[in-house]
Amino acid sequence: MPNLTRSDAERLDRQDPLAVFADRFELPAGHVYLDGNSLGAAPKSVFSDMETAIHREWANDLIASWSGAGWWTLGERLGDQIGSLIGAPPSSTVVCDTTTVNIYKALHAAVSLRPGRTRVVAERKGFPTDSYAAEGVVSTIPGVSLELVDVDAGELLDALDDSVAVVLINHIDYRTATLRDMGALTQAIHRVGAVAVWDLCHSVGVYPIDLVGCEVDLAVGCSYKFLNGGPGAPAFMYVAPQHQETAVSPLRGWWGHADPFAMEETYRPMEGIRKYMVGTQPILSMRAMQASLDMYEEVDLVAVRDKSKSLTGFFIDLVDQECAGHGISVYSPRAADRRGSQVSLYSEDGQSIMAAMAAADVHGGYRAPGVMRFGFAPLYISHADVFEAVQRLKHILETEEWKKPRYQSGAIS
Ligand SMILES: *Cc1c(COP(=O)(O)O)cnc(C)c1O
Repeated sequence: MPNLTRSDAERLDRQDPLAVFADRFELPAGHVYLDGNSLGAAPKSVFSDMETAIHREWANDLIASWSGAGWWTLGERLGDQIGSLIGAPPSSTVVCDTTTVNIYKALHAAVSLRPGRTRVVAERKGFPTDSYAAEGVVSTIPGVSLELVDVDAGELLDALDDSVAVVLINHIDYRTATLRDMGALTQAIHRVGAVAVWDLCHSVGVYPIDLVGCEVDLAVGCSYKFLNGGPGAPAFMYVAPQHQETAVSPLRGWWGHADPFAMEETYRPMEGIRKYMVGTQPILSMRAMQASLDMYEEVDLVAVRDKSKSLTGFFIDLVDQECAGHGISVYSPRAADRRGSQVSLYSEDGQSIMAAMAAADVHGGYRAPGVMRFGFAPLYISHADVFEAVQRLKHILETEEWKKPRYQSGAIS
């Protein structure tokens, strides 16, 4: 391994076709922000978009904006914009609610496609809200139970048989950044006649997803991580066209009624993906999201994936080179093809080290026990940022800065 230097970072950045995008985000000066896998940075255009949304559309035009500013159909339009990032055909993706609520709706809808089957399979080590939502779903369907498996330990394939109705699986694991083979696993799920529901929270916006090509049945994901939709931005939900007529949403509301303004006494589902919208959606949050999704129309996701592999690989190589002998290990796959846009490191002292890193303006995330997460958003992170982050980490380890009492407890994200 050659000795990597700052000039290697500069050379990689000069060759970066996405370098132009960094300027279109607002980030505090001096910060190395490696938490875009948790809350994406603000696109600069969001400031004027919000000004328009609040001053003109809300304050001045008031209720006329439901049609005049397109508020009523915004969730479908944003859904189509996200659809183009995940290989979904138009009118199969909708923006609404939170990821957790969408998992609830998607799992229910998926179970409704396989009447008589008795098991829902989800991940034991996935982001907990996913299995919490799955618990809630099975608690309402007599005879259906939930089974949790460790996907990366190979337990999913063992769990599959013709009693399985639905499998909920993450495309990229939030803790280790392990990337799963969407095509192969979906095929295995289909082989036993079950329905595949994919959670795209950590892959949307940083990986060229092909839902149709992989024959995914349903999918969900959030928009405030790598998609930079803003805090509390609503999530999205995909239902494959062939399931839209038969899948049943468990939540009935006027926004998904076949004729919402007829004010009919009983519910009739609207055709298509809109029935999952249920009720009035957070329009201002959706307006904030639009800035980022409009920018994504100019983004080549293949270039994003290439840069993501380069950033994460450069980080791992630098950590190996600069931080050896301090009890830190790489907790993510070392093979670039098997990891997402994040690298997790492990240390028994991870929480204190991350607190000291935050004080040095390198912002990552910590997940107990011991997992230090660094997310690399290719649209605004450079190789020079990666180099700087590892220099600051090295300094904290060599000076034992992290042992200071002020880093021994306290809440960080
Ligand atoms: C971030 C994340 C969520 C978040 O769910 P919300 O309902 O939007 O808070 C859910 N699942 C996974 C896998 C996540 O990474």
